[in-house]
Amino acid sequence: MSVFQFTVRTSAHTQMLDITAQVRKAIADSGVQNGLCVVYVPHTTAAVTVNENADPDVQTDFMKELNKIVPWEDGYYHAEGNSAAHLKASMMGFSETLIVDAGKPILGTWQGIYFLEYDGPRTRKVCVKVMEG
Ligand code: ZN
Repeated sequence: MSVFQFTVRTSAHTQMLDITAQVRKAIADSGVQNGLCVVYVPHTTAAVTVNENADPDVQTDFMKELNKIVPWEDGYYHAEGNSAAHLKASMMGFSETLIVDAGKPILGTWQGIYFLEYDGPRTRKVCVKVMEG
């Protein structure tokens, strides 16, 4: 079975984008009713996570606090100047695994799937693999 891909265009340096609808569509297009779905971000300065999709302040707090833990400037050695983005991407991780039941991902009432941009704005890729099982 093939890998589904879609692009996201981020509009800020640091951003949290809801990609739940695109992932739901990839699962629907796969035709898989029961199995696993892996959402993978093939980048070194972006990541993916699952978190609250109700109050947008959660996203603001999420990004604000992470910027405090990993400040943009901190005497890093990496010449490209974006070490903070690399660090945050690895901290949050490059993939999420979702359980597919009756053709849909199991998500809690308040859960959404988020693409995390740490060195934008850029055009980014998201890969989705859906497996029957
Ligand atoms: Zn770099």
